[in-house]
Amino acid sequence: MRNKLVAGNWKMHGNLEDNAALLEALIANMPKPGNNTGYAVCVPFPYLASVQSALQDTYINWGAQNISQYEKGAYTGEVSADMLNDFGCRYVIVGHSERRMLFGETSQIVAEKYAAAQRAGLIPILCVGETLEQRDSDITEQVIDEQLKAVIALTGIESLAKAVIAYEPVWAIGTGVNATSEQAQEMHFFIRELVWNKYGAEIAADKTILYGGSCNSKNAKELFSMPDVDGGLIGGASLKAEEFVAIIQAAGE
Ligand code: PEP
Repeated sequence: MRNKLVAGNWKMHGNLEDNAALLEALIANMPKPGNNTGYAVCVPFPYLASVQSALQDTYINWGAQNISQYEKGAYTGEVSADMLNDFGCRYVIVGHSERRMLFGETSQIVAEKYAAAQRAGLIPILCVGETLEQRDSDITEQVIDEQLKAVIALTGIESLAKAVIAYEPVWAIGTGVNATSEQAQEMHFFIRELVWNKYGAEIAADKTILYGGSCNSKNAKELFSMPDVDGGLIGGASLKAEEFVAIIQAAGE
């Protein structure tokens, strides 16, 4: 049975006071996860210590939103995999479209970050997705193939067994315009089939593939009801406890 995951991406939001209130509300209201369901919040680096101390005795996991591809050394401003481990991270987002587009992360850099995470035992949440221009030019599948290929070329197909894939159409992120459940299913099926055809049935069948892009309490149930959608990577809506809990409930239904 495939694992389901709902992970929040706080992006560059929050402060100590607001985070404490958000986590308190999440802890009080989150449903107990089923055997194959997990929840997580991916938070800015400076808050990892306080998030660890708030969540360590709960069933909510936590992680980071970025990682250095380097192990250690003269890389001013970077945060290594070992440092994330020091704060009990389980997950780290790699290849988010904001990092690809605003910070120049190529698919090769993303692959190196993915590899660095896995070397340290962290689970990368690998984001892939197309821009509106790419969708309009009918190259969506090519773009996603290229993004996945870079990772597999570096780390091998077996590495996918210890990763989560998030399909995040760039045009849906933070826009309020989510992919329809049919569009999401089509792309999730494409990703699963791609992994299946090129790399192996077993890995494909077990792969957790999340949807991300303007997912909220109103559309989550419909999106998560699709056979190849195994949960969500949630940005804006993960900053409101009520919304995030409702999305989590939708994943469990
Ligand atoms: C994200 O940042 O990964 C995301 C999906 O954002 P939002 O839910 O706000 O569209």
